[in-house]
Amino acid sequence: MLIDLNTCIGCHACSVACKAEFDVPLGVFRDTVKYVEHGSYPHATRHFVPVLCNHCEDAPCLDACPTDAISRQPGGEVLINEGDCNLNRFCMAACPYGAIYEDPDKHVAQKCTLCSHRTEQGQQPACVDACPTNCRIFGDLDDPDSEIAKRAAAQPTAVWKPAAATFPRVLYIDPRGALPLIETDGVQVDLLAELSGE
Ligand code: SF4
Ligand code: SF4
Repeated sequence: MLIDLNTCIGCHACSVACKAEFDVPLGVFRDTVKYVEHGSYPHATRHFVPVLCNHCEDAPCLDACPTDAISRQPGGEVLINEGDCNLNRFCMAACPYGAIYEDPDKHVAQKCTLCSHRTEQGQQPACVDACPTNCRIFGDLDDPDSEIAKRAAAQPTAVWKPAAATFPRVLYIDPRGALPLIETDGVQVDLLAELSGE
């Protein structure tokens, strides 16, 4: 996936669509939007950064799982097989992005699947369909003729937390350097809501 931060307006349509698609409980998320404010008047800016599982090429969650419940699919998606998960939480500790949550009802680890159930049917992931500014592009980064590969080749791209060396497959167009800012100062609205009891 490629996310163009030039056009993200922080509307949360993506995260709401994801919640609806997977019936994700309150207080946890598969896809959310962090924001960070930077600079001072009259040059203050609020940056929005959608985050989700990066489906890393070198995925520490996959290596950490002792029951082999996490696997990489032929398309590159890193998926959790609920039936093989005994909720030992090793994957949650290993993921540098906090992308895995504990499902309070099923008592298994869960995360973004890149909507593999939809993409197998030729549909787009729910977050991509819902985005009103088309800043999310899903496709095959290894296919040079795909839109995502062309967009990624046309301008510099960045990944979140490159120092973690997980080689994310979620790329960002980040001309204003928002990714390093959310690492240290980012705010996640849905977690704040949970803490405040709203
Ligand atoms: Fe695993 Fe986290 Fe990478 Fe997703 S972002 S593949 S959960 S290490
Ligand atoms: Fe940004 Fe699109 Fe998500 Fe809205 S739906 S927050 S514009 S990525």
